Amino acid sequence: MDFFYGPGRNHLFVPGPVNIPEPVIRAMNRNNEDYRSPAVPALTRTLLEDVKKIFKTTSGTTFLIPTTGTGAWESALTNTLSPGDKIVSFLIGQFSLLWIDQQQRLNFNVDVIESEWGRGADLDALASKLAADWSHSIKAVCIVHNETATGVTNNLATVRKLLDEHNHPALLLVDGVSSICAIDFRMDEWGVDVALTGSQKALSMPTGMGIVCASPKALEAAKSAKSVRVFFDWNDYLKFYKMGTFWPYTPSIQLLYGLRAALDLLFEEGLDNVIARHNRLGKATRLAVEAWGLKNCTQKEEWFSDTVTAVIVPPHVNSSDIVKRAWTRYNLSLGLGLNKVAGKVFRIGHLGNLNDLQLLGCLSGVEMVLRDVGYPVKLGSGVAAAAAYLQNTIPMISSRI
Ligand code: PLP
Repeated sequence: MDFFYGPGRNHLFVPGPVNIPEPVIRAMNRNNEDYRSPAVPALTRTLLEDVKKIFKTTSGTTFLIPTTGTGAWESALTNTLSPGDKIVSFLIGQFSLLWIDQQQRLNFNVDVIESEWGRGADLDALASKLAADWSHSIKAVCIVHNETATGVTNNLATVRKLLDEHNHPALLLVDGVSSICAIDFRMDEWGVDVALTGSQKALSMPTGMGIVCASPKALEAAKSAKSVRVFFDWNDYLKFYKMGTFWPYTPSIQLLYGLRAALDLLFEEGLDNVIARHNRLGKATRLAVEAWGLKNCTQKEEWFSDTVTAVIVPPHVNSSDIVKRAWTRYNLSLGLGLNKVAGKVFRIGHLGNLNDLQLLGCLSGVEMVLRDVGYPVKLGSGVAAAAAYLQNTIPMISSRI
């Protein structure tokens, strides 16, 4: 029962937490278990191995940590770096800002490369910094793959190319919280040293599990990294991995079974098909925004995000009113504009367990809300643009052919 009940289903279109598939909900509806029995380590072994596939790595080591994306950030930083280490970090929106704040509070020497919100990471500035850093004082480059506040996806292949061109040994630490399992991500190919995500995003699980993957180089760095860490210390995990019992402390049994079900669903659909589905949902949303005569906060096509679209509202409209109205009148949950873009954008999350008809429902709700707040959109215009595109591109459901 909803705390504030509304008839029918809530249309959950915030960019995380997202809809949980029924098989995952059912898999988690179970009793606790003794995590020291042979069953939980046997299950964990399959999870640690299979979760590598979502990072596209064979050489990485995975950690399933009872935390959120923020804790996964901390795990990545404190295990690989020492206080005072110089790191380069890109500021392009609220989540990269929060990560930088964490980096500063952990006493790293953060060289911030800032871009206007709505633009991607300034990789020319990175190239200049790498070229000037002949002494290799930069220990890590930190980048948010998909900035959820503005709907901007950064080009990680180029970041790797720049590091290689300058023969630079800095670690590459990547926040994949709103990209992994939805947007193309290739840990091994792009030489990512630590990648991380949170369970409530494209994995479509409840919040509560941080999923972190470390390259061999990152594990090596962990041996000399001097940042204080206790709960997030990879060494504690590795000790228990060696013993085959896997858990330094009590895992959430329900989340483990949920992850098993979530991975099974992803693999059944096929990770590349999941990514293609997100690309279609993203494109359909962008076509609707265009049909409404509104602007995408993301300034260039190369940065368009397939998991979240931040829509700029007309000057006389406050985007918070749109979000409030959507929820109170249409049982539709949209994302607020955050920080610098508060009141100026609302966000449509299109990630995780979501299909085309669900998206069309959301888009029709947005159209009604826009009219409610005085923006004279033609009802059905965005829905028609999105549906015309989706109808021509939607594949058959492979398990039903
Ligand atoms: N990084 C990104 C890109 C996010 O979108 C979020 C949350 O939305 C976070 C980090 C923080 O994750 P959490 O809220 O799970 O701590």
